[in-house]
Amino acid sequence: MTLHASYDPENIFAKILRGQMPCVKVYEDAVALAFMDVFPQSEGHTLVVPKAGMARNFLDMPGDWLGSYMLCVQKIARAVEAGLKPDGLRIMQFNGAAAGQTVFHLHFHVIPVWEGRELGRHGAGAMAKPDELEPVAAKIRAAF
Ligand code: 5GP
Repeated sequence: MTLHASYDPENIFAKILRGQMPCVKVYEDAVALAFMDVFPQSEGHTLVVPKAGMARNFLDMPGDWLGSYMLCVQKIARAVEAGLKPDGLRIMQFNGAAAGQTVFHLHFHVIPVWEGRELGRHGAGAMAKPDELEPVAAKIRAAF
């Protein structure tokens, strides 16, 4: 059912976009806000959240906004790569609770991967503190 429900403007990412909840910011422009995931699956796990569209998931996103948003996802992924030098990157996106989605405002995960380092599980990691996330975010910010 969560795939087709209506958009809830009280979801946590909407609150972060409105400045009502804090985040460790990596990048912001007119299209999207990127910030560190507080339950990171790896060092540098970044979320890219579109500002427009009121989309719960990828299926909902109006086409007019999709292109600029996807360019933004790529821009963040490039900065994560340049700033942290991982061996690989996972770009992930979940649609509906059955698929693993837990926050119902469209977002892409940018997850750096290093050979020999195991990734945390989606939605199951320990909560990171802002002072742990901030130095990593600073490296990514410096790479734009
Ligand atoms: P989803 O499961 O919807 O694909 O991803 C939601 C992501 O948001 C998860 O990786 C989760 O760790 C992260 N998350 C949940 N609540 C918060 C929050 O309050 N702040 C931040 N920065 N990330 C959050």
